[in-house]
Amino acid sequence: MAGHVSTQVPALSSVPPTKFGMAVATVDGCVLTAGDGTEPFSIQSLSKLFALCALLQRNPAVWDHIGWGPTDSGYGSVAELERNLGRPRNPFVNPGALVVTDRLIELTGDAVGATIDLLASTSGTAVINSDGRVALSETVADHRNAAIAHVLAEHGKLVNAIDRVLTQYFAQCAIAASVETVAKSALFLADRSADATVLDSGSVRRVNAVLLMSGMYGAAGDVAYRIGLPAKSGIGGGVLAIMPGLGTVCVWSPPLDTDGNSAGGVAAIEEFARLAGWSVF
Ligand code: GLN
Repeated sequence: MAGHVSTQVPALSSVPPTKFGMAVATVDGCVLTAGDGTEPFSIQSLSKLFALCALLQRNPAVWDHIGWGPTDSGYGSVAELERNLGRPRNPFVNPGALVVTDRLIELTGDAVGATIDLLASTSGTAVINSDGRVALSETVADHRNAAIAHVLAEHGKLVNAIDRVLTQYFAQCAIAASVETVAKSALFLADRSADATVLDSGSVRRVNAVLLMSGMYGAAGDVAYRIGLPAKSGIGGGVLAIMPGLGTVCVWSPPLDTDGNSAGGVAAIEEFARLAGWSVF
């Protein structure tokens, strides 16, 4: 498959490009897993989705601080944040994700623990860890997230000290989970029942809308056009897609395309969605 394994986080550059795992979970309780589907991988920006939902569980007013519109500037744009006077465009670009982590620290004292708790409790996975080696590797190599955090702080958008927010954010991105765990956990975003227990139905609808517009960064329009499902990617090579009312599909394939999305993951989900007839349109 075309593309290259991410070098942005040096510890991830040695992940074998041939890894491939796929899992499908349905709201009526069916789980199918293939390939390396039970092997934990670095979920990176997939963690932004679960951190956001962990925050929404505690404070649905997140949207007062973060926008919900699409970006055409990629996930790490300092310029876009400056243009918006420090208001993050959405929760999936890094400025928005840093504000989510900051608010989660404020409410729980441990954003990483709260994100892991949500992943573990919703998937029934007993042990989920953050990989300290990956987190340290990003901490040492990173300049961009530090720059973003400083711009946020300049505009008074962070409650906690910059170093604390960055340390927690890198550890949150370094959470390791399998596609099976991610697919099972995210089922609450496919739950259309009025008595949904994990997240209220209004939040579920809004999160899916923002995923469709922004979960795949610069390729969001392309993914909406080709696949038609709310989706989220991470530079560890994971992609998750949600079919409201039916289920979820998650793929891990490390080589990334030029938008920073898993090339094989998007291709596999496109083919699966076509075969299964999954599209929100
Ligand atoms: N940890 C990475 C970052 O913050 C995650 C990026 C991604 O997965 N898209 O830049």
